[in-house]
Amino acid sequence: MFDHLSSLPADPILGLLAAYRADENPRKIDLGVGVYKDEAGHTPVLQAVKEAETRLLRSEETKAYVGPAGTAGFNAAMQELVLGAGHPALVGNRVRSAQTPGGCGALRVLAEFANRAKEHATIWVSDPTWANHVPLLGNAGLQIKSYPYYDRATSSLKFDAMVETLKQVGEGELVLFHACCHNPCGADLSREQWQVLAEMAQKQGFTPFIDMAYQGFGDSLDADAYGLRLMAESVPEMLVAASCSKNFGLYRERVGMAMAIYRDADSADRGQSQLLNVVRGNYSMPPNHGGAIVEAILTDAGLRANWEAELTEMRERINSLRSGLVESLEKAGAVGDFHFIQQQKGMFSFLGITPEQVEKLQQDYSIYMVDSSRISIAGLSQNNMEYFCASVAEVLES
Ligand code: PMP
Repeated sequence: MFDHLSSLPADPILGLLAAYRADENPRKIDLGVGVYKDEAGHTPVLQAVKEAETRLLRSEETKAYVGPAGTAGFNAAMQELVLGAGHPALVGNRVRSAQTPGGCGALRVLAEFANRAKEHATIWVSDPTWANHVPLLGNAGLQIKSYPYYDRATSSLKFDAMVETLKQVGEGELVLFHACCHNPCGADLSREQWQVLAEMAQKQGFTPFIDMAYQGFGDSLDADAYGLRLMAESVPEMLVAASCSKNFGLYRERVGMAMAIYRDADSADRGQSQLLNVVRGNYSMPPNHGGAIVEAILTDAGLRANWEAELTEMRERINSLRSGLVESLEKAGAVGDFHFIQQQKGMFSFLGITPEQVEKLQQDYSIYMVDSSRISIAGLSQNNMEYFCASVAEVLES
């Protein structure tokens, strides 16, 4: 039965990681994988998470099933984190959600849910977008089309072209937006641009589907949700896939939330019955541990304050690396203007070099990044910054 299966090429990022691990150069740098790293190159367990786990270990009394939605406490706390307390959609009892295995679980569940509402509906995604959006949404049956987003030549948004393309999108179609910290390009929409898109969604009737994987990594928990919240005030229906992987550092615990906003409470109840049925037919119910940690942190003032402080530290480290990188590239005499890196947000930016130059950095300098020249900023540190910038400068000259 399985004999005829051919093998698929390894995921490029995982292949890169394997090559990095095998490299014996002590100066090697990994800028491929999208996880936060501290100055020592370590991805730490947050203190607030450790404390929440310790408390849970002591207080937990059962391992009985929780149910397809996860706990009510998790969902209420996450809805408020994402939408902000007192958001009109919450007050109007129009929001329903389920805890999911990561942001990926949320994307997949919501895609299947949307496909039930309208089979093979079109979803528009940014060009470029996170590579895994395509299988997560496409395997659920949605048809994928793309809108222009990022101009590699100028390292900036193509907002006019984006608007021009989205003018043709109407009711029954979905548009995927990155809430903040765009992966892979780091270029985010301004408040004015969100306003334009919210008005288009309202007027044309398309359904926004927002992927929020980095809340708190750009400017702040609230500022990063600005566009999402505005959109949710402007339209009757919307989908949100939230991830707790980065902002809680819970990557391997797999925690996220699939949230839908409906026209009214009655359609919300009907919709939620469908969404939970999608969950039941996939993995039945989410794992508890990570969700319980998030719930414990968000509902305890002390733990929450600690978590927010740790999140601020991660964000500030990334932002200072961004300005440090621009400065060091200049100092190293790298050809080109890299100021865009300072304006961009989150874990990633495209360095804007050619695949051949990316290859050369790997072969000759043991610096690892994906072909597109997307770099994971947190892989840089005070220790490797100078070596990195000098190497880029040399490769750009050669
Ligand atoms: N969306 C985007 C844009 C992402 O970058 C990621 C993580 N790389 C996710 C969703 C989902 O991540 P996870 O399933 O690990 O929560």
